[in-house]
Amino acid sequence: MVGILSDIHGNLEALQAVLKAGEERGVREWICLGDIVGYGAQPEECVSIIREKCKTVVMGNHDEAASKVAEPEDFNPVARHAVLWTRYVLTDEAREYLSKLPYSIQDGDRLYVHASPHLPEDWNYIFTESEARRQLSKLPQTVRHCFVGHTHEPFHYIGSDGKEIINVGSVGQPRDGDSRASFALLDPTTGKVENVRVEYNITSAREKILAAKLPPFLAERLKHGQ
Ligand code: ZN
Repeated sequence: MVGILSDIHGNLEALQAVLKAGEERGVREWICLGDIVGYGAQPEECVSIIREKCKTVVMGNHDEAASKVAEPEDFNPVARHAVLWTRYVLTDEAREYLSKLPYSIQDGDRLYVHASPHLPEDWNYIFTESEARRQLSKLPQTVRHCFVGHTHEPFHYIGSDGKEIINVGSVGQPRDGDSRASFALLDPTTGKVENVRVEYNITSAREKILAAKLPPFLAERLKHGQ
């Protein structure tokens, strides 16, 4: 089985719970769709685990912002605070690693990208079926399954030609009203994809965010999955 995870956002408790649940379900290969850091209190630990576990990793907008020196653009005040804090706590080695991640990776008929396959560096969101259809129409001919994250909400759209966009949801900051960590299980022989939700120690993740003096809203939202 292949485990596909995204939007960990420095939440170590959620990442460890997802890896354990996936490995219990037979995951032998992990793929990461980006946003390893930003928002949560343990970005460095999450980067080192992802480096060890995943050979396929693409860049997210928070990874890009945390690895730059320029003023973060297109971030709201809470996210901007988290970006600057994350830059400050990450080692140079982790920032260097994040700065070199590719925007997308194609493996056979699968495409992995953080936000959307068309112009991935623009960080556009795919929330609606019409946007999913538009994105599918721009996929390279050879791609059948496109895996994305970025919205923090699991989503699965199958086009009329059978091509699919699968949003795997967020490990470390779900926003679909379900506070459990989210990832996708892919059976590479059948091509079947399942969204999996995993309980984790939210209290511990919240306490670390507050202790780090990150915006309290980032701790609060984990409780509600919003
Ligand atoms: Zn994200």
